[in-house]
Amino acid sequence: VHAIGIDIGGTKVAGALVTEAGDILRLERRPTPAGDPAAIVDVVVELVRELGDGEQVVAAGVAAAGFIDAAQSTVYYAPNINWRSEPFRDRLSDRLPGLDITIDNDANAAGWAEYRFGAGRGTTDMTMLTIGTGVGGAIVTNGRLLRGGFGAAGEIGHLRVVPGGHPCGCGQKGCIEQYGSGRALMRFAGEIADAGGIGQSLARARAANDGVLDGAIVARLIEDDDPGARAALRELGDWLGQACASIAAVLDPQVFVFGGGVASAGDRLLDPVRESFLAHLPARGFHPEPGFLAAQLVNDAGVVGAADLARIHAGGPAESASADPVTAAE
Ligand SMILES: [Zn+2]
Repeated sequence: VHAIGIDIGGTKVAGALVTEAGDILRLERRPTPAGDPAAIVDVVVELVRELGDGEQVVAAGVAAAGFIDAAQSTVYYAPNINWRSEPFRDRLSDRLPGLDITIDNDANAAGWAEYRFGAGRGTTDMTMLTIGTGVGGAIVTNGRLLRGGFGAAGEIGHLRVVPGGHPCGCGQKGCIEQYGSGRALMRFAGEIADAGGIGQSLARARAANDGVLDGAIVARLIEDDDPGARAALRELGDWLGQACASIAAVLDPQVFVFGGGVASAGDRLLDPVRESFLAHLPARGFHPEPGFLAAQLVNDAGVVGAADLARIHAGGPAESASADPVTAAE
C-alpha cells in the first residue's frame, strides 16, 4: 500500500507516489500558483488524484515551508505562498474524501525522510541541519519527529549563538543562521579576501566577477583546496560545531546530519564541525561522540518524508519503526 507526498515549494509543487520502503514510483511537478490558496488546493488535489489513479493509496502528506500546527492540519504562516492561518487539511479533505491527509513543515518532512531512509537510519535520536542560504533543521527524538507544543520546534537556524550579533530575518539578532549558513560563508570569504594574504585567490576571483563573491566561486575554490576558501569554510564549521554542542546538551542526538548545498563540501565541512563540537561540548570527555554525517537523500526528501508521515498518521507502522532491519554499517 502506497502513500502520496506533496512538497509545495516557492516555484514548484512536487508530488510523488511513495512505497513503504521510501521508494518513489512516480514523480510529477507543477508550477506553484503563488499567493492563491484556492489555486494551490486545486493543484494538490489534481496531483493526488493523478498519482493515486489505479493505485492503492492509504494517505497523502503535504509539506510546506512555514509554521504548521502540531495537529498537522493548519498552516499558520507560509512565507512562500503568502498564507495566514489556512485550514489546509480540511480544504483538502473536503475534496479528497476517504483519504487520510496531513500537513507538515517541509524541513521536518525532509529530516524525517533522512531519519527513516537515509543517514539517520538505525538511530533513535537524530538532529538534522540543512545548510543552504539559511539554516534549517529537523529533530527526531526517541524515534519521533519533534513538532513541539505549537508545531514550531526544530527551527535550529534561530538558535542564538551571539547575543546582540548580526540581525536575522526572524527579527532577532545573533542566530546561528547568521554564522552557519551559505550567506555567512560568503561574508567570511569576503572578509578573508579583504585581508589579503591567504585571501588573494578569493580577491582575484571576486574582481573577475564584477566585485561579487558567489556560491559557485567559493565552492570551486574550496574544491581546489584554496587556503582562503578553506579558512572561510572552517570558520563556518567552527560556528556550527558550537551550535551542535549546545544542541547536544539539550537533545543528545546519536547523529548530526548535514544537508543543503553547503554540506556537499563533505568532510571539508564536517571535520571542522566535529573539532569545534568536541572543543565546546559541556562535560567533554564524559560524553560519547555522536556521528557527523552528510545527508544521503539529496533530492525529493520532502515528498518521501511527507508521504511517510501521512502513512504513520493513517495508522501504519509506528513512528519509530525503521524501514527494514537496520545495519549500523550503512
Ligand atoms: Zn533568527
